[in-house]
Amino acid sequence: MIKVAVSGFKGKMGHEVVRTVLREEDMELVSVLDHQPSEKNINELPEFTELDVPVYSDLQALLVETTPDAVVDFTVPASAYSNTKTIIENGARAIVGTTGFTAEQIRELTALSEEKQVGSLIAPNFAVGAVLMMQFAEKAAAYFPNVEIIELHHDQKLDAPSGTAVKTAEMISHTRQKIKQGREDETESIKGARGADFEGMRIHSVRLPGLIAHQEVLFGAEGQGLTIRHDSYDRISFMSGVALAIRKTAEVDKLIYGLENIL
Ligand code: NAP
Repeated sequence: MIKVAVSGFKGKMGHEVVRTVLREEDMELVSVLDHQPSEKNINELPEFTELDVPVYSDLQALLVETTPDAVVDFTVPASAYSNTKTIIENGARAIVGTTGFTAEQIRELTALSEEKQVGSLIAPNFAVGAVLMMQFAEKAAAYFPNVEIIELHHDQKLDAPSGTAVKTAEMISHTRQKIKQGREDETESIKGARGADFEGMRIHSVRLPGLIAHQEVLFGAEGQGLTIRHDSYDRISFMSGVALAIRKTAEVDKLIYGLENIL
């Protein structure tokens, strides 16, 4: 059995992860974490009355007392870096879906995981379709250097652009000829109208109630266009990727960035 803890278990994603871990026959939910818990045990929640799983507010105590093999973190950008560091320092595998990491933070955490020889995964998107969208976009960018990314999310999302959009831009930059798009002398009459600039390509963030997680990558060339789009209509779309990561990180000895690297 893989002993799993869930950090941010009361959030939209964390709650779905709890349900996933309970469904998987080779996983055991050993503990959950919240920054301001009002319960001591998950069985105080109406949905989980038959369980006996302690609730922690202190990650270090959770790690020492319930010794999980893997901790899944879906919290907020402000806590995800220190949570991931604490998990790896304690020798547990970190499976992190929280977005907003800087490239420097990922480098530091990768170095720490190598030192500790602990497999872990940070994935800005756990949906297999989204990973394929990024890979197709990387391939297309070799032929279409003019590209704009439009990411669309629910209006409670904290960070912009989304981790998926940043990861897509990074992957595209492996194959795209580096050019500044649009006219050299273009101006914005309203600041931000042209979106965020990533190596000369533009990223636009849409926030609306009713959305979950969606992204379009638009390529344009003379006389033709190509649009690659992925939609997560339900948070269940991320769960097969989370379950895969919980299992596959046991087979590696360092942190991996991106689900595509374990598929
Ligand atoms: P959410 O519903 O707001 O859940 C976040 C949870 O973290 C809440 O329970 C929140 O508690 C808790 N929290 C807030 N501050 C905290 C702190 N300082 N320390 C620990 N926990 C804290 O958000 P969500 O939609 O589940 O998304 C969570 C993260 O996952 C976001 O970064 C989002 O972008 C990312 N995400 C990733 C994927 C992926 O595939 N990788 C998919 C969807 C979302 P309170 O409610 O009490 O503040």
